Amino acid sequence: MEQERTNRNCPLWGTETCARLNMRACRGCPAEDKDPRECNEIREDVDQLYSFLPEEGIASLFAGEDCTLCKGEQKGKRESYGLFDMGHADPRDRKKKLKLFRSKTYGFVIPLQFGCCKDCRRRHQLLSWLPMLTAIVILGGTLLIVAQEPVAQSLRNVWRGMPLIVMALAAGISYIVGRIQVKVLRERFNQRTYMDLKDHPMVQRMTGLGWESILDGKYPRPVFTRKRLTYGVGTAAPEAEEEKITGDGENLD
Ligand SMILES: [Zn+2]
Repeated sequence: MEQERTNRNCPLWGTETCARLNMRACRGCPAEDKDPRECNEIREDVDQLYSFLPEEGIASLFAGEDCTLCKGEQKGKRESYGLFDMGHADPRDRKKKLKLFRSKTYGFVIPLQFGCCKDCRRRHQLLSWLPMLTAIVILGGTLLIVAQEPVAQSLRNVWRGMPLIVMALAAGISYIVGRIQVKVLRERFNQRTYMDLKDHPMVQRMTGLGWESILDGKYPRPVFTRKRLTYGVGTAAPEAEEEKITGDGENLD
């Protein structure tokens, strides 16, 4: 992977901090045009963040060819990535806070990038779409029926507001059916795929180190992409993998 980190005058150039920041180029790097004191603060920030990460790092999630969301021995082939941000508090009481990898709530935010196979991605995506799809089918179907004049008329004969009541009932039913579908499918999918990322060994490991999902909800969902983030803190592939990508290709597949 070609990097344009050419500014040898930068106090951080070529250091471990530079490698950990993993910026595409010196331009746009947080250390760009910073004096040595500010660069030192950046180094402290990065060191602090890394002190909370598992020793072996988080690259194993995305560096291999296998899916890391599959459960069991049989792993699918990675074809996309599930992105899942985790946040950690910054225990240092600092007057001036750098904007680097911070959100409003968390001192540090880092992306976990799960290499993901087609099946695991589809299972996650299906669960996120299913309630909406169910609602559209049930509500749409009910509307089509209620909109028929003879049906509407006979409903109105019972009571003027009856067609509305029927639609409200359909909405309630579609909500309940959606919930049941999701529950049943989640349990079934969960046998093969980590549907609840909080069960994933890496997420549990991170949780033990003080990290938590920055998303609310019982089952925070990963965002799926074809290409993973390759620049920024926590996105550097291990050395061996770099060679694999940039080498003569003999190791690919
Ligand atoms: Zn998988």
